[in-house]
Amino acid sequence: MYVASKLPQHLGQSGWVSMLPPRTPCPTLDGTVNADIAVIGGGFAGLSAARRLSQLDPGLKVVILEAGEIAEGATGRNSGFIIDLPHEVSSEDYGGAEGNERQHDIKVHRIAIALAQELADEKRWGKDVFDPCGKYNVALGQQGDEHVASYAKQLDKVNEPYRMLDANEIAAVTGTQSFTSAIFTPGTVIIQPAAYIRGLADSFHDPVKLYENTPALSFERQGTSWVIRTPNGYVRAGKIILANNGQAQSFGLFRGQLLHVYTYASMTEAFDPKRLGGQRSWAATPAFPMGTTVRRVEGDQGDRVLIRSRYTYNPRMQVSKSAIARAGRVHDRKFETRFPMLKGVPMEYRWAGAMALTWNGVPAFGEIEHGVFAAIACNGVGATKATASGIAAAEAALGQDSWLVQVFRGFAAPRRLPPQPFLTIGAAANLSMKEWAAGVE
Ligand SMILES: Cc1cc2nc3c(=O)[nH]c(=O)nc-3n(C[C@H](O)[C@H](O)[C@H](O)COP(=O)(O)OP(=O)(O)OC[C@H]3O[C@@H](n4cnc5c(N)ncnc54)[C@H](O)[C@@H]3O)c2cc1C
Repeated sequence: MYVASKLPQHLGQSGWVSMLPPRTPCPTLDGTVNADIAVIGGGFAGLSAARRLSQLDPGLKVVILEAGEIAEGATGRNSGFIIDLPHEVSSEDYGGAEGNERQHDIKVHRIAIALAQELADEKRWGKDVFDPCGKYNVALGQQGDEHVASYAKQLDKVNEPYRMLDANEIAAVTGTQSFTSAIFTPGTVIIQPAAYIRGLADSFHDPVKLYENTPALSFERQGTSWVIRTPNGYVRAGKIILANNGQAQSFGLFRGQLLHVYTYASMTEAFDPKRLGGQRSWAATPAFPMGTTVRRVEGDQGDRVLIRSRYTYNPRMQVSKSAIARAGRVHDRKFETRFPMLKGVPMEYRWAGAMALTWNGVPAFGEIEHGVFAAIACNGVGATKATASGIAAAEAALGQDSWLVQVFRGFAAPRRLPPQPFLTIGAAANLSMKEWAAGVE
């Protein structure tokens, strides 16, 4: 029997959820239900898995269990980049599929984006929820410029289109003179993450059932089924897809293989769009992956700026209010240096969110027990990778041997982490060093 030793906690008020109208969550599970497949976790991985299952077999009884409300977790509180290209288009960056790894990674990412695009078409979402506008990768100085230029050379090698921008050209987009150069790549989709995942959740209908505020407390094999216990009921299912990211460890799974890293975001109050020139909606990742992500979000009541930076290693899978406050001070500095013309615009929301990484950057994927399929460990570019691993887990659970399943099965196993206390010391030092190397970026 696998028993959850803890449940997810989401700290800080996410701006994305707060900006949306209130939504009535799906009911909690009360009593016993039967399902062909139960999905644990209602993030990118879990809901994409459920969508793929019902595409492949519309008659399949699927039950999704979400511990909290949809969009409260990392999926609804991220920066909203569904990225097609890895941060570094180098073979070390993304685990070990065979053959031309870079092309494989990009193809995997585009399968995930295709699922999102299909949903967007179905929902007729506007650009406020789903904008296939591409992204800028911006530099703030010589080191960043060099990094941007070297990224362009890497893109040449994989024949991916891009456009280089000098300081004036990127200033015309962002309305600030802070950035010294940038590279634009067209394939990234920018989402309002809370609206996206709510929309996906609300797209399910019979025989797919979503239960919110219904954590899986334990699961065990009984005869030919798996029985999942929740606070007020049970799910009896033929198979399980485990899509609760780092929280899989609280069931005793992938122990010593998952690195629990938190990252932080702050979002300003709405401000008068006339205060900042350039375009009213754009999204930029930093030249160095450990640097600062920035978005300008256009709104009817005014525009907002999102700043995402700082990483901390939190092996107990929780962060404190003071950690959010500390990250917030860093965000304020980053905001002030990038947007001096917005002096005095305060941050309205600050929050933290969990990610699960592995030492060798591979997902924790596959059939870990007879009938239990894992889509865990989002690593970097998690919106894309978690979506892809959810799709692959659904296909694997239905016995399909698709190209995507083969790629995911081809990944090496997550490498064992070093023992404590070396792990905590090493992980903290590594994050600090990389953040230091990212410098002003
Ligand atoms: C501030 C921030 C910014 C980010 N920006 C980006 C970005 O722009 N682009 C990008 O690609 N990635 C980004 N990420 C990372 C990305 O959000 C994650 O990689 C992604 O959400 C992982 O998806 P997932 O479905 O695997 O896990 P999660 O989003 O963590 O979803 C897992 C779900 O499982 C539920 N759960 C846990 N335990 C149980 C249980 N026992 N029973 C039932 N349900 C359970 C949780 O409540 C949660 O909803 C960001 C993350 C943060 C925090």
